[in-house]
Amino acid sequence: MKVDNRKLSPVKILDALGVTAPEEIDVEAIAHHFGATVIPQRLHGSAARILGLGDRAFITVDSDSPRARQRFSVAHELGHWMIDRGKLSGFVCTEKNLLADWSGDNPERRANRFAADLLMPSSLFAPAAKNREMTLDTVRDLCAKFETSLTATAIRLVENGSFPAMVVYSNASGVKWKFRDRDISDEIQLRDKPGAYTNAAELLSGRNPASGPTEIQASDWFTHPRSKYYSVVEDSVRIFEETVLSLLWWKNEQQLIDLDED
Ligand SMILES: [Zn+2]
Repeated sequence: MKVDNRKLSPVKILDALGVTAPEEIDVEAIAHHFGATVIPQRLHGSAARILGLGDRAFITVDSDSPRARQRFSVAHELGHWMIDRGKLSGFVCTEKNLLADWSGDNPERRANRFAADLLMPSSLFAPAAKNREMTLDTVRDLCAKFETSLTATAIRLVENGSFPAMVVYSNASGVKWKFRDRDISDEIQLRDKPGAYTNAAELLSGRNPASGPTEIQASDWFTHPRSKYYSVVEDSVRIFEETVLSLLWWKNEQQLIDLDED
């Protein structure tokens, strides 16, 4: 029986290949298995691209990127190949596609989702993340284990971790995008910009606040009128020159519990 490769989800692919540990996820070999050859080379202005020719594809990935980011790029392009093959002859994907498109339903989001599921399958990630603090130290530890980038791994931790948290990406003009735990009430909405007392605001203004997880009044991050009565643990880091990644963790879940009871 001929199997339609395009129906294969990352879970099924990893199952079929007998993968049982993160270090066995050889993304280049998986791509090769599905007819896609990976070519590392210097790219200017994009992180990766894919060109399909019939049943074959060529994935070019920026050789100057860190290894973790190359792996994510290859998995992302492979996602385009598996999901959207035939609809378009090729994709050119920038760092922005790889980072920002985690909401809505479009080819970039689907490719990111495919990459996250392939490189950090829940069956392996959830046990590794279980009961861990929702901090960047935990994210870095999981990055090392899964050989994945900070942003993608932080998103996965929010999704698969044991405690309520949110990833926020901001720059000087404000919050660019966020990824929230689906259990967090919609009544909790981010301010347009991180408040003055957040570490993110300090980092964005070029200062270097004490690093590491810091307890911050929730009203500095959120608009809910009662936020001033609660706190979140913020762990922020400068990612590029002018961009800050923040992991917000309701270590004390009282705000979420109180909203549930309203
Ligand atoms: Zn893409």
